[in-house]
Amino acid sequence: MAPVRVLYWFRTDLRLHDSPALQAALDLGGKSGIEAFYPIWCFDPQYVWKHKVGVNRWQFLLQSMQDVSDRLKRVNDKQRLHVLRGSPEKVLPVVWKDWGITHMVFEKDTAAYARQRDEHVVNTLVKQHAPHIKVIIKDGHNLLDPERVIKEGNNGKCITTLVAWKKAAAKVGEVPKPLPAITSLPDPGSLDLPSATEKKMEPGAMDGPYARLEGENVNHDIMDKERFDCFASISGPDHDFAVPTLLSLGLGEATTSIPGGETEALRRLDAFLADKSRTATFSKPASAPTSLEPSTTQLSPYLKFGCLSVREFYWRAKEVIDSYVPKKGEKVTKEPENLLGQLEFREMYYCAEFATPNYDRIRGNPLSRFMNWALMNHYDEKGEMIVPRPRGKEADEQKFTKWKEGQTGFPWIDAVMRQLKHEGWIHHLARHSVACFLTRGQCYISWERGTEVFDEYLLDWDPASNPGNWMWLSCSAFFSQYFRVYGLVSWPQKTDKTGALVRKYCPELKNFPDKFIYSPHLAPLAVQEKAKCIIGKDYPLPMLDEKHEKERCIARLKVAYEEGLHGDASEVLDGSAEEI
Ligand code: FAD
Repeated sequence: MAPVRVLYWFRTDLRLHDSPALQAALDLGGKSGIEAFYPIWCFDPQYVWKHKVGVNRWQFLLQSMQDVSDRLKRVNDKQRLHVLRGSPEKVLPVVWKDWGITHMVFEKDTAAYARQRDEHVVNTLVKQHAPHIKVIIKDGHNLLDPERVIKEGNNGKCITTLVAWKKAAAKVGEVPKPLPAITSLPDPGSLDLPSATEKKMEPGAMDGPYARLEGENVNHDIMDKERFDCFASISGPDHDFAVPTLLSLGLGEATTSIPGGETEALRRLDAFLADKSRTATFSKPASAPTSLEPSTTQLSPYLKFGCLSVREFYWRAKEVIDSYVPKKGEKVTKEPENLLGQLEFREMYYCAEFATPNYDRIRGNPLSRFMNWALMNHYDEKGEMIVPRPRGKEADEQKFTKWKEGQTGFPWIDAVMRQLKHEGWIHHLARHSVACFLTRGQCYISWERGTEVFDEYLLDWDPASNPGNWMWLSCSAFFSQYFRVYGLVSWPQKTDKTGALVRKYCPELKNFPDKFIYSPHLAPLAVQEKAKCIIGKDYPLPMLDEKHEKERCIARLKVAYEEGLHGDASEVLDGSAEEI
């Protein structure tokens, strides 16, 4: 039998436990074994700059990569994650050739962009450069493969409810039981890259992007295309394939307190599930968005990067829930409010994303209702988004910026938006509040603009869950009760009358009495003076009239629902900055 030399491409699966793809790669050896095994990561410029990944998510990703690398090393001292600097298109053909690869294995990614990329890699690049390579793709990022659920379970049609997902999923089969973590790993082969054009660099030198732009007026919070394109070497400045640092990539310091990695993911899962009562009685609607400590699992970033297997989470949570004997006064929560229901919502969005063209935008998206939002995205004749955009109405741009920066004058909204920027994670119902406010609640700004801000700031940003939830909150799809709007004072007061989250993230308001903490502009001047914060000077006045704008929005949504247009009403969308 010809020697087996495997390239294992880590992408959405930064873990060693329950990884069907990694297991399939290791199984390739059969009796004669694997001659060389290369676990790799390559940066994808499209992903990296198109999505404006913020510095907190970058840190989470790099920590997760480092953790995988350390864990690989623990299994086999000669192993680690080999980071290839450059896009898959550029670096894969080089390593296929130079490392004599016979098999390439990776986890299936059903998101639209990834599908396109993988199709190009497998059906064009492999055929062109290394037709002898056998490619193996295994699903493992979802409870059940969304493609199968849509195609085999729902006749190829989109899924927009949990009930429909469950029905379709039942036709595909049971959620697979998790696999144990790998315990052995073959050695890598030679790491030479004779066919790469590598620039010589001093040991320890900065990577291309930072070195080139150091001293210039650069935004260190995100990476742009220009900076990304200039890595000097595939193997890194020290030619050791090491995981880069934030600094070497030209990024600034992260502010989040949530660390990345499989080790941390499993620790957090163990800790959460160890409290059996909490797990079995967990009810999403009853969890507090105002809590300083997360009132939900906060495992979403780990699921996003695949540091945690969703199947591991599901089966372990199910075991606790099914075997729990409630104490007096307790009730075991049922789906969809319980933890299993939460994981199934994730599946529903993955299926919707798989089945919907142009899912992340309004234009050409048959799922999204058409509303005449302000600041909708614009596209050229090829359907590519026009960036920078033609400016919308100045007042809307200002509202949008104030929302993004947490300067709206509504403390609840501002605290959540500042927490989002600082931590990269906010509670689900806090996401509800700020998304509703930006879109159908008060500002009447396109949900597309909201997704972009979440994309930049969230650790758990996800191509299926993010646009999907934005469509839900803006009543563009999935949910239609547009007359139910979150109160900017009454809603946070339900779970915290003291305004702890506001006091933490809007410290200028910290001395206000509870009575005015969510509406400081209503406090008499003497109270403002005592709190050492004058509204309009030290903290902004509300940027709009909550009640008046809510009524205007509801009226507009009513008209839009009566008209019944959907996102493919492209002729309407072609106009610039619609008057509203
Ligand atoms: P838990 O309540 O502990 O739930 C466990 C897991 O279930 C989560 O980690 C997540 O993977 C999944 N889950 C729970 N609720 C949802 C949901 N509504 N949609 C999809 N998955 C869910 N979630 C993302 O993972 N990425 C996103 O980009 C994202 N964007 C959102 C945007 C908006 C406007 C809104 C309203 C919600 C968004 N969500 C997103 C969904 C949800 O808010 C987060 O998944 C959840 O808050 C993460 O916290 P947790 O891990 O503590 O969740």
